[in-house]
Amino acid sequence: MIYLLLVKISFLFYRAGEILIRVFKRILRFLFHPRYLFSSFAEDLTYYKEASLLTILGLWMLEWLILILDIVGLPEWYESFADILKFNTRPLTKNEMAIGQSVFGSSINWERVRIDERSYIGPKQKRMIYVSFYTINAYGPMSIETFVHELVHIWQFENVGSCYIPRALFAQTTTMGYNYGGLNALILNMEKNGGLAAFNYEQQADIVMDYFNLKTNRPLKWSNANQANFEVFEYYWKEVYD
Ligand SMILES: [Zn+2]
Repeated sequence: MIYLLLVKISFLFYRAGEILIRVFKRILRFLFHPRYLFSSFAEDLTYYKEASLLTILGLWMLEWLILILDIVGLPEWYESFADILKFNTRPLTKNEMAIGQSVFGSSINWERVRIDERSYIGPKQKRMIYVSFYTINAYGPMSIETFVHELVHIWQFENVGSCYIPRALFAQTTTMGYNYGGLNALILNMEKNGGLAAFNYEQQADIVMDYFNLKTNRPLKWSNANQANFEVFEYYWKEVYD
């Protein structure tokens, strides 16, 4: 209890520092955001095909606004308040960190990752889990596969800032949703030298989750692939590992 309180207080300062450290990267992200719109069309992303032009433009505009909020440190402000108000929020255990690092290496700032297993608003009523920046909000313990899925959203946040939120929400509205199309879809995209970007933000999370499932001999969610296909999953995993 005292330990948790000390961690919470010290991280108020840590996050304040993070706002300053990350500000330049976030300004660049904001300035280069038009590039994402062009690449969305140029790469002909399948998951945008069912959306109207207006939806795509609207989402893109929304993301631009969100990137301004990143510059002023909204993620850190939000997390600091949530960390205090939702007192159960805790850092990762050694075991959780080891599992996370085995999949993502150092591409996630592990010190900042938090888990709230007593998240009353949302997860309790709707039996869902969501990621607010570095915090995984759940109600009750989650499976280790789900933990890996949620870490992908944190990895996305590390890479594209808060844009991961509208992109993941949009992904949930698509016909394919979380289903990345199984082994065939992975191979087809690999042959075109495509990466995770060809998949929506929930599919990305489930691809990495299924990589973890295959690696640890658990049943896969969207594919009946076996160890002989491991290198296909490894190809995508390399993108998230650093
Ligand atoms: Zn997800």
